[in-house]
Amino acid sequence: MIWKTIEKPKQGWAVVPNLLDYDQVRAEFSWQAARRELDGLPSGGGLNIAYEAVDRHAAGALSEHLALRWLGKRGEIRDFTYADLRALTDRFANVLKRLGLDAGERVFMLTGRIPELYISALGTLKNRNVFCPLFSAFGPEPIRQRISIGDGRVLVTTVTLYQRKIAELRSALPGLKHVLLIGTPDELRAIPDTKDFHQLMEQADNRFDIPPTDPEDLALLHFTSGTTGKPKGAMHVHQAVVAHHMTGRYALDFHPGDIFWCTADPGWVTGTSYGIIAPLTHGITSIIDEAEFDAERWYGLLEQQKVTIWYTAPTAVRMMMKVGTEVIRKFDLSNLRFIASVGEPLNPEAVVWGQEAFGLPIHDNWWQTETGGIMIANYAAMEIRPGSMGRPLPGIDAAIVRQRKDGTVEVVDAPEVEGELALRPGWPSMFRGYLNEDARYRKCFADGWYLTGDLAKRDRDGFYWFVGRIDDVIKSAGHLIGPFEVESTLMEHRAVAEAGVIGKPDPTAGEVVKAFVALKPGFAASEDLRLDLLGFARRRLGVAVAPREIDFVANVPKTRSGKIMRRLLKARELGLPEGDTSTLESD
Ligand code: AMP
Repeated sequence: MIWKTIEKPKQGWAVVPNLLDYDQVRAEFSWQAARRELDGLPSGGGLNIAYEAVDRHAAGALSEHLALRWLGKRGEIRDFTYADLRALTDRFANVLKRLGLDAGERVFMLTGRIPELYISALGTLKNRNVFCPLFSAFGPEPIRQRISIGDGRVLVTTVTLYQRKIAELRSALPGLKHVLLIGTPDELRAIPDTKDFHQLMEQADNRFDIPPTDPEDLALLHFTSGTTGKPKGAMHVHQAVVAHHMTGRYALDFHPGDIFWCTADPGWVTGTSYGIIAPLTHGITSIIDEAEFDAERWYGLLEQQKVTIWYTAPTAVRMMMKVGTEVIRKFDLSNLRFIASVGEPLNPEAVVWGQEAFGLPIHDNWWQTETGGIMIANYAAMEIRPGSMGRPLPGIDAAIVRQRKDGTVEVVDAPEVEGELALRPGWPSMFRGYLNEDARYRKCFADGWYLTGDLAKRDRDGFYWFVGRIDDVIKSAGHLIGPFEVESTLMEHRAVAEAGVIGKPDPTAGEVVKAFVALKPGFAASEDLRLDLLGFARRRLGVAVAPREIDFVANVPKTRSGKIMRRLLKARELGLPEGDTSTLESD
């Protein structure tokens, strides 16, 4: 199906988008100028993320402005102004200082989305320690692996998580000197070798002077899973904040007074770059929801909190699509101005559904753990071509490339030709390496390009279109097939809620396309439905690309950050080892 471009008005905006003239802003943009929009530490002490996010606002007109509003699972609400956040993060920085932590030492966090997580993250950065978030749903082994690769010195966690996951690991983590527990004094009394987080906070001073911080000092360590092998720790530096800030302005269209909700967990990079840092550097209000997805609850939150900008993920959008648009009509979502999505391809169907459901299209954007911030995006003022990731941010040079056998790189200039998506290194949130894995890091570069591992193409107007992870691409009878295209088509069928597509080895074709499909409520798996789906896909995609086989599944396996785990579908289909499944979401 050819999706119609979604046009945007040329004028008459209620809030004028920050990026009105893409070509002009791109032509005039420089990272040096972007850096000057931040303050830097007083008296030339360098650049520290937490200072830009918190202290500079707390010292100025935004001191009493709401920085974070936390919504607990049981309906609790806790508000933190910029002044509150300053005092609390200063306390935590003092806690770390008193524990004797040196600059660069790692502080791991294993909690749900609770206020202590946000306070610890920013306090860690103030003391020039490295913030390393972990998903609270990780089991003991992924936790052990990451803390030991990252040489964690401190772990902040809750009593429950400690008892369930960490206690048994302590002897295997000799470098982990301090475990700070969040819990009641009664709960804590019974647990040896740990410290009381809240007691340490109370004892600590609420003023802390951030020491001079080199913009290149290590700030964040985010683990990312490869298809094989151990998780890799992508290292980011304080200077990344320049990119967080700038992309908040152009890709997410932050304006003063905005109320922003990023649904991502800080256990992965979106939840840190945009769930913590970017809204705060802009001095706006950020909503944190402790609970997991629930469509009605989410719409209620958008209404009650008067959310203006909402950053979510395709997996959530698909879940909302499953529930349908009727329920949305019960809510007043008139404050909502801009919706964006990241993490995996956003099916064109979903972009258009947003328009129908919210009166706003969903703006897909693309980036990776390694890039630290949004690289390619659909913008508030720019037309949307459903299914496209949009155009590169100002300051970001992207290209479609092919790597030659001798390692050199050929840039593919022609439009509509598939190749690897590559970026010219040099933006501030670019990762500085994989911790202790220099060879793996160096393999990501060739001929002055950073190779993303994604296949994509560019149309003649400079919009980028995602084809697939190079590892996931299906090669069938001479065709290269991106699983996303097939999944998107299947999702256009009224019975399909989600689809995951893989290549299955085949003696004649090399691989054939196989789809795993989860159905919407009200539809039951049957042979008739399977045939209907096969026919539907064949009509839309043609025989060369349509799935040959379709299996019905209750759920398509996904990572906790919502990405379809095609390699797991494939391993299960072929009876191969499942590899690293530490990020798998458990339904
Ligand atoms: P991670 O580092 O875990 O955030 O994963 C990054 C990968 O997710 C990218 O290399 C893409 O394969 C995929 N991804 C993220 N955002 C998008 C998007 N908007 N469209 C397509 N793929 C995406």
